[in-house]
Amino acid sequence: MMRFLCVISSGTARKGFVAHVIMTTIASNLQAVRGAMAAAAEASGRVAEDIVLLAVSKSFLPAALREAYHAGQTRFAESYLQEALGKIAALHDLPVEWHFIGPIQSNKTRAIAENFSWVHSVDRLKIAERLSAQRPTNLPPLNVCLQVNVSGEDSKGGVAPDEVAGLAQAVAQLPQLRLRGLMAIPAPSDDVAVQRLSFARLRELRDQIYRQGLASDTLSMGMSHDFAAAIAEGATMVRIGTAIFGNRTYQKEP
Ligand SMILES: *Cc1c(COP(=O)(O)O)cnc(C)c1O
Repeated sequence: MMRFLCVISSGTARKGFVAHVIMTTIASNLQAVRGAMAAAAEASGRVAEDIVLLAVSKSFLPAALREAYHAGQTRFAESYLQEALGKIAALHDLPVEWHFIGPIQSNKTRAIAENFSWVHSVDRLKIAERLSAQRPTNLPPLNVCLQVNVSGEDSKGGVAPDEVAGLAQAVAQLPQLRLRGLMAIPAPSDDVAVQRLSFARLRELRDQIYRQGLASDTLSMGMSHDFAAAIAEGATMVRIGTAIFGNRTYQKEP
């Protein structure tokens, strides 16, 4: 109530009030997403604790991430390096785990290797080799997922399904990388059966590299519109932006 009275009398306090309303939305969105994840897990006989939630914070300001952190979210995923570096600096005081999920050009590998714990979007050996060579030796190995183009779209990044086995074998040899599994961004569909087919495809590919003797505990799949289907097909990490932070104000492509 005090806060509300302040709003009427002072511009600065009004900003605080607006921020408070937005923050409350982020916290309640997070709660709703966690609830929906738990329900999806239970529906397929899984336990919610086995599925990690990544908050995809691209386009949102550090204050929004801070509020998510205070609502219990410690893992954040970003797609654009320069934007991400600004947020990593701004949130330096928080023990946040950073995941890189965007397209990777060669000239970006050093900063990615130095500033992130995970990279989900490795789709060629040259990039993996650079990340390994540039990973500082005082840091633990960089956790890596290979991005797979499961829908066969020309426009999407990702290694072709029939090249996953070879790339996984090569990446697993790189000293400063730790191969964790596979990631995909299937073509969007409103049809749950279609969503599940793409995710099942990725799961089969993960099982295949596991049979090659390569540790691969991670299936990074599922976004705001399809995470329930991804969880039904075995996702161990879901990457959710809009359902936590709201609509992005840009649709930037690099
Ligand atoms: C933006 C993005 C997401 C999150 O998408 P939402 O639909 O906002 O949940 C997940 N994964 C990747 C790779 C992204 O670029």
